Amino acid sequence: MSDLNWSAIVDETINMLQGLIRLDTSNPPGNEGLAASFIANLLNENGIQPIVIETAPGRGNTIARLKGNGNAPPLLLYSHTDVVPVERDRWTVDPFGGEIHNGYVYGRGALDMKGIGAMQLSVFLTLARQMKSTPGWVPDRDIILAATADEETDTDQGIGMLVKNHPDLIRAEYGLSEFGGYSMYASGKCFYPVQAAEKGTVWMRMRATGRPGHASVPHDDNAVVHLARAVEKLSRVRLPMHMSVTARTFISGLADGLGGAQGAGMRALLAAGDQNGSPLIERVVRDPGLSGELHAITHNTATPTGLNAGRKINVIPSFAEAMLDCRTVPGFGAPETIDELRRALGSDAADVTFEVDSVSPAVEFNTNTPLYRLISQTLRKHDPTGIPLPSMLTGATDAKHVASLGAICYGFSPMKFHPGERFSDMVHGHDERVSIESLAWGVQTLYEVVRNFCFSH
Ligand SMILES: [Zn+2]
Repeated sequence: MSDLNWSAIVDETINMLQGLIRLDTSNPPGNEGLAASFIANLLNENGIQPIVIETAPGRGNTIARLKGNGNAPPLLLYSHTDVVPVERDRWTVDPFGGEIHNGYVYGRGALDMKGIGAMQLSVFLTLARQMKSTPGWVPDRDIILAATADEETDTDQGIGMLVKNHPDLIRAEYGLSEFGGYSMYASGKCFYPVQAAEKGTVWMRMRATGRPGHASVPHDDNAVVHLARAVEKLSRVRLPMHMSVTARTFISGLADGLGGAQGAGMRALLAAGDQNGSPLIERVVRDPGLSGELHAITHNTATPTGLNAGRKINVIPSFAEAMLDCRTVPGFGAPETIDELRRALGSDAADVTFEVDSVSPAVEFNTNTPLYRLISQTLRKHDPTGIPLPSMLTGATDAKHVASLGAICYGFSPMKFHPGERFSDMVHGHDERVSIESLAWGVQTLYEVVRNFCFSH
């Protein structure tokens, strides 16, 4: 690797990121076709023939492949090219300007996830050039690059569509993508969570019914009151703890890394079991951000996000409903989640029913794999003070789609933040930005993992 010109590779990564940020792919509406052509052009200029699939006018996906010798199944590097919208007046710079200030590249998508897409593209192009200049140097497995549309709203113009209509283009043994591999600081220690699981979603409405009537004559069977009582109770009750393999490994790694009283507290939490552990979380973890995170990865959650009741002020409506965004740990579908909510609501459950709108189960991947071990070793090599840990994302990414084709997916987009910078605080935020230092560190770390995993010499 010493023959690589890293300063040129980092410059190229920055240029590609600036180019991608300058394409406004806010979703809705997306317009990811802009990014698909931009990436396809770069690939073409480097002698790689990409496949561009348009699903609708302006919605494009780009896929390319470095052919291996077939000794092993492919590795997929996948990223989404759409971004969440901006509140332009809250930014201090042009969110689509790709400006550089004080060593940071600013712009929507710098972190989620054009910065990572640019790193993947850079690794892919670097390997392609090396293969070209070293005849006979081929990987043991195909390396697939997929830059896809529509992750942020998931209306199926992106990877979900590829899984359904073009699975052979992206079928792989392993996939690497967003939400993991970046530094996370806790009590002065640096950890690198690598996403190995993702909570599921159950989106539903909690519905109360009652006796309609004239509002001038109040009565006890009011749907609005039934619903309000149930919503209020949900905000107070604690659902049971469920310690998945990933959560256990994450917490036990944190305990080892933190040591001291906090480490001992986390060990006690693991030893307490699902029955008694839950209330211990806030007691043993001093950082409220971290204790919130630990609670979320070990519990099903139900967050009310909307209310709908009544149309006229003088009419008692016959029903009232609350939107519930439930996030589920591995092993829980809609029926099990509803059972849990009913038990938590107790007598108030008699007044409500649950109507499920959509379900996407949690995914959890084995980390006893050669790729996970290589990721862990490489992170340790590039930051000897950092501690890699398998982690669970509380949100959702395209990993669920890719996993449906049998791939083991890790969130591995290496970045090194400064202490005090927390990925989850910066992502989707105003003045989204990534430091050049972080990109430089990340692209080298990612390159090393991909190169050493795919090439046996
Ligand atoms: Zn993302």
